[in-house]
Amino acid sequence: MRGWPKGKSRKEVVGYAAAHYRMGSANTHVCARCGEQAQEWAYKGGCPNELTQTVRKWELKYSLDPGFYEPLCSSCHITQDHSRGVSWYAAKLTEDQVRALRAEYAAGGISQAKLALKYGVSPPAVQRIVTGRTYKNVQ
Ligand SMILES: [Zn+2]
Repeated sequence: MRGWPKGKSRKEVVGYAAAHYRMGSANTHVCARCGEQAQEWAYKGGCPNELTQTVRKWELKYSLDPGFYEPLCSSCHITQDHSRGVSWYAAKLTEDQVRALRAEYAAGGISQAKLALKYGVSPPAVQRIVTGRTYKNVQ
């Protein structure tokens, strides 16, 4: 399968995506910290089956269990990421996938929402990737 994340078993990736779809959109929830409209799911920590992915020098933790996620608005999510380095959407894409996503978007004809579905990340994450706010190291 094209674009399969390196170093992950098929089972693990399928579980990751399935957990994501079960949770649905965070937009229909309010932020667990400030009560504003939530935008993204954030991993709360504490899952007994916690998984870890190392990206550059950071060790990011995540879970396949939606019960260990809470809806957060962008600003609270960023605050949490800075304090714990934990995010549902962080570190999901390989550098090759980031390049492919940007190339597809630059070629036109596909929306950020469609790219989000295709790559299994949130639309705000796609926006951050194509505008270079995230994955700055990927050229
Ligand atoms: Zn908030």
